[in-house]
Amino acid sequence: MKKVFFLLFLLIFSVSLFAQRLPRVRILATGGTIAGTGASADRAAYTAGELPVKDLIAAVPGLDKVAEITGEQVANVGSQDMTVAIWIKLNKRINEIFKNDEADGIVITHGTDTQEETAYFLSLTVRYDKPVVLTGAMRPATAISADGPKNLYDAVVLAASKEAQGKGVMLEFSESIFTGRDAVKINTTHVEAFNSPNDGPIGQVYDGQVVFYKQLLRKENKSTPFDITGMTSLPEVAVVYLYADAPATGINAAIAKNVKGLVTGGLGNGNLNKVNTTAVEAAVKRGISVVRASRVPSGRVVLHDETDDAKLGTIVSDDLLPQKARILLMLGLTQTMDKAQLQQYFFEY
Ligand code: ASP
Repeated sequence: MKKVFFLLFLLIFSVSLFAQRLPRVRILATGGTIAGTGASADRAAYTAGELPVKDLIAAVPGLDKVAEITGEQVANVGSQDMTVAIWIKLNKRINEIFKNDEADGIVITHGTDTQEETAYFLSLTVRYDKPVVLTGAMRPATAISADGPKNLYDAVVLAASKEAQGKGVMLEFSESIFTGRDAVKINTTHVEAFNSPNDGPIGQVYDGQVVFYKQLLRKENKSTPFDITGMTSLPEVAVVYLYADAPATGINAAIAKNVKGLVTGGLGNGNLNKVNTTAVEAAVKRGISVVRASRVPSGRVVLHDETDDAKLGTIVSDDLLPQKARILLMLGLTQTMDKAQLQQYFFEY
């Protein structure tokens, strides 16, 4: 009888222990203003990417009640210095963490300048759909009302939440949740620095609660062909912007550099003026894959409107801005140079 009671006690004890286990969230730090420090309480002359990950975690009271937190420093740069090499390193580490079941979710602290690019790159290349949440700050850690601790807290809440399971790569900023694909930095200095110009946020983190009200229909994570395991670099793709009376200097320089791909930040519906149309013709003849995107912040670039893509040999970016189109083209070119296939990627991913 005693033995039965003891066994029962053991069972209840272990069940309650299991029930109380918090989700495991790994924080991968890459630098940015969230880890930035300055000599004064404002932003004047601060330096991004100074504080180590342990200091970022220590600055957020109550984080240990949300999840079992562990941290790793992957890089410590201002994200204006983000590189393809760091992206490849991040991708490798994220896939390893999920493969080895080291965490239930991942938060990446990152500068805001290129955060949207890293988010899209990861959403196309990470092979798991467990939550990966990017966040950062607009004010350095030493500033009055630094926004980093609150953003980090909300990002951990999101990565640890059951609502985020299966949602893949997201960006959380100022209480809004965006897809890695559609998040765009829309303000240079305000704390509400991100939005998705075509669709808005897909959800919110508020008072420690996660609510989703939309979902991404594009393919991502393991439904893309972009498994970059073993790769150490990506095909070079240049971005060239247009403006009234723009000469073809940018496109000609890209051709001279032997880039594999070119994205134009065109006018209106991705239009090119005459000299740049001629330059694009020359680029296509040289075997360079050219994607027409637009410098306009929202909307789609559509095939065969004012520009005859079939004649020019160009691909359209759909609703990707030039900096995001570059990422998809770099990854697309790891698979194929076929124009129709590359175009299909832009309609699906
Ligand atoms: N230049 C900084 C960075 O991107 C800006 C920021 O984090 O807000 O690292």
